[in-house]
This record gives sequence, C-alpha cells and structure tokens, in this order.
Amino acid sequence: MSRFAILFAVSEIAPWVKTGGLGDVAAALPAALKQRRQDVRVLVPAYPALRRAFPEAQEVASLPSLTPAMPPCRLLAANADGLPLLLLDCPELFDRPGNPYLDAAGSDYSDNVLRFGLLSRVAARLGQPDSPLAWQPDIVHLHDWQTALAAAFLHYEGGAASVLTIHNIAFPGNFAPGDLAALALPPQSWSFDGVEYFGHFSFLKAGLQFATRLNTVSATYAREILDEALGYGFAPLLRYRAQALYGLLNGIDTEAWNPAKDAHLAVPYSAGRLTGKRANKTALQARLGLEQRDDLPLFGVVSRLTEQKGLDLLLTLGSGLAEHLPGQLALLGSGDPALEAGFRALSERYPGRIASVIGFDEALAHQIEAGADIFLMPSRFEPCGLNQMYSLRYGTPPIVRQTGGLADSVVDCNEASLADGTATGFVFQDATAHALWQTLERATAVWKQPRLWRQLQQQGMRLDLSWKRAADAYLALYDDTLAAHRSALPAP
Ligand code: ADP
Repeated sequence: MSRFAILFAVSEIAPWVKTGGLGDVAAALPAALKQRRQDVRVLVPAYPALRRAFPEAQEVASLPSLTPAMPPCRLLAANADGLPLLLLDCPELFDRPGNPYLDAAGSDYSDNVLRFGLLSRVAARLGQPDSPLAWQPDIVHLHDWQTALAAAFLHYEGGAASVLTIHNIAFPGNFAPGDLAALALPPQSWSFDGVEYFGHFSFLKAGLQFATRLNTVSATYAREILDEALGYGFAPLLRYRAQALYGLLNGIDTEAWNPAKDAHLAVPYSAGRLTGKRANKTALQARLGLEQRDDLPLFGVVSRLTEQKGLDLLLTLGSGLAEHLPGQLALLGSGDPALEAGFRALSERYPGRIASVIGFDEALAHQIEAGADIFLMPSRFEPCGLNQMYSLRYGTPPIVRQTGGLADSVVDCNEASLADGTATGFVFQDATAHALWQTLERATAVWKQPRLWRQLQQQGMRLDLSWKRAADAYLALYDDTLAAHRSALPAP
C-alpha cells in the first residue's frame, strides 16, 4: 500500500465544530486513513471550541502577515485520539462563538474572505518549499469553498498536488473582485480560466479550475453535477474537467450506528438476531403515541425539512398513507416552516397513525431508524446522504429516489436483485407523489411477506458501509493525483 503525507484542510471538524456532513467527514476520513498507516494531519481554524478541547496545544510555527490585509497567525499542534491536528490560531478572525460561518444574526461574517482566504493561504503554504514546518505533504486535500482557494495559490506559486472534495456545490464562496488584492493573488488570476465566476471572485471556482483532482461524495452525484440542473453554474467547467472528477461514496460511523450496541434502543439486535427489532417498533409507537399495531407498516423519516429532501411529496400523500395504504408514519425533522406546519397538521388529523416531531433529537433519530419498518428518503438531489445508510444498517429497508448517493447505496428490490441477493430497498425515479405512492405500495407488499422481508433486511445489514472501504477509495484517488501532478511538472 502506498504511504502518503496528506494535509487535510477543512473549516469544521466533528464533534467540536460541525454544521453538517463536512464536519463528520473531516473527523472520520483522516482517522480511517491513519488506521491505514497514512501520515495525515488536519488543518482547521482554532475556533474557541477547539481551543477549549485542546488547552495543551503547542505552538509549532508562527506566520507573519502573509499579505498586508491579513493578521499574523500561529499554528498549534494538538492530538485528537492519535490524529494530529494543526490549529490555525488567529484570534482576530476565528475567536468567535457559535457557527463558524455566520454571525449571531445568521448573516455571513463580513470578513469571511479574509478568514477562509487565510485558511486557504496557510494550507497552500504548508504544501510549498517555504513551509514553516519541517513536515511536507505530498497532497493537500481541500474541502468545499472554504479551502478551495489553496489550489489557486499552489497553481500560481507551485507546490504539492491538491485534491478538492465537493460536499456541496450549491455554495460557491463568492466575493467581490476587489478582494483579490487583499489575498495577494496575481492579477492574471482574474480571468475566465482563473478565479472569475460570472463577475464574482469565487473560491470554489478556483478549486474546480486548479485542483489536480476533484471528487464529490458519490459517483452518481459526480455525473449529475455535469448537468446544468444540479451543477449550479459550474457544469461547463466540470464537463471540461470530467477526466479529473471522481465520485467516492462516504462511509458512516459504524460504531455510533450499530444496532447491536446502540444505547438509545429499547432492545439491541443484529442481522442474526432480528427479533429484537420488534420491541423497538413497540417502544417507538409508545413514545410517539402511535397505536400499538404490528399489522401496519411503520414508515420512518429523519431529515432536514427542505425542498431538497422531497418531503412535500410525502405530505401530499399523508391522508392516503394513513387511510388507504394503510400505514403509520414517524417523522423527525425541522426546517421549512410550511413543511413543519404541514406535518404538524397531518399528525393532528391522524393521531395514532402519524406522529411528527419537529426539532433535532439524536436519540429519537436512532429510535426511528430501529423502530420503523421502512425508511423514507425521497430526495430531489442528495450528494451522498447518511440516513439511508443508517437505515440499511438497522434492518429498515429504505425507499429512496434514484439520485446521487441514494442511487449508489440502495439496490432496488425486484425479482432479479432478490434472486442474486443484492436487493436492499426500493428505488423510484420520478420526483412525483404518484411515483412515491407506487413505491410505498410496492414496499408494503414485500413487507407483508416475512421471509422475503427478512432477506431484504439482512442483505442491507451485511453491507460494508464503513469508512475503511471509503478510505481505500481515497488512497486510489491520491495515487492518481500524484501521478497527474508529476506528469504536469516540467522535466528537471
Ligand atoms: P444532510 O447532510 O443533507 O442534512 P444527511 O442524510 O447526509 O443529510 O445527514 C443528515 C444527518 O443529520 C444525519 O446524521 C441525520 O440523522 C441527522 N439529522 C437530520 N435531521 C435530524 C433531526 N431532526 N434530529 C436528529 N438528527 C437529524
């Protein structure tokens, strides 16, 4: 196995600073790479939560102002259970409580161009010959717009190879053209094949243009963003770079999400001892005030309530689900006020059949994954998605729309996939209530056949969804990245 020195440059890391899946990946992937004996270090701003978590962090480098507009900063080294962290300490920019990107009023910090410009600048510097550290990465691994600009510095000034992972292409990291000077990018970078993007200075565009290799978090989403509808204006550039673009499915935390050891569950269970799952259904029905019925399928949802997740389709079908299918629904989510109100109203209309909990509740999320019979994730788009993987692991076959990571992690149940032992859930194509309804009916028909259902559950539960599998895929990407970087360098 190749051994790489990898600098992970990220703007958040779980559990200390997390706004979404990016924070989980920033913690789990380096840890999995470390287990594969890779030399990986994680560069992340020294937010207050990280300073508090690592009071013993030691200064390992001091960097004077990298441009006149940027304050001086320091690098502090810390160790998170064996994973080396490099905390970028610049109190003027990062010593702020709460969300890493937004102020208390929910607006972007007005100096985000400097905050993440500095993070990107330092990430690039650590991959260059004048790095302040004795350690030199082979690859600087960047994530989303917040660190993408490092690829531009490495391009114009030389240095290590870079990989940019796109977790969410909907955020371009746009700033004013006038901000270019503050970051000391060369004037020629303001061009169509530089950092200019529809008249803005875009950090993400810089990364998409210049990173040695690009990837997103599922193979299907990597193809979908080549299309105008999901490419958010980057589709032409991504098509131009299609040879450099990969899709690698995320893993899940198989310790935190393990039905055999989950402390949130009424009764633990496993693929070999599935009987315990029934007690979790009864406990969930009791907790949510649903009728104690084991003759009806219980559908589960844990989700942000947004247009992306397609739950408006389910809302349209609410009455049908309760009265005609019939089935039960346990929903946990928050977000769009209209969807929140819609699901609240539905549960008031069908008490005993439909329970909607509006809020964020980690324990209940686990209990729904375990207690539901069938999980629902009808997303319009989904770069990777975690909940469908949790539900596979919990023996709760998911119904998903055929998009992004959902299409890549769930195999539709049909005659052929049952015969060859690959079926794990139900996949539908059109983002319509009609198509979802047909799939609810199709899944219910299989659920009514206990032997077949058990087969479906066990096939999902036995999949390898771990970060180990994902880490191997990243090692292959690093190999290719280094080869591409070397072949692009001028001959000595
Ligand atoms: P996204 O990142 O688009 O929200 P994912 O499926 O990738 O969707 O990840 C969502 C994560 O957030 C999962 O771990 C899920 O369990 C969790 N989650 C979402 N909404 C809630 C909620 N209301 N309560 C508890 N956990 C939630």
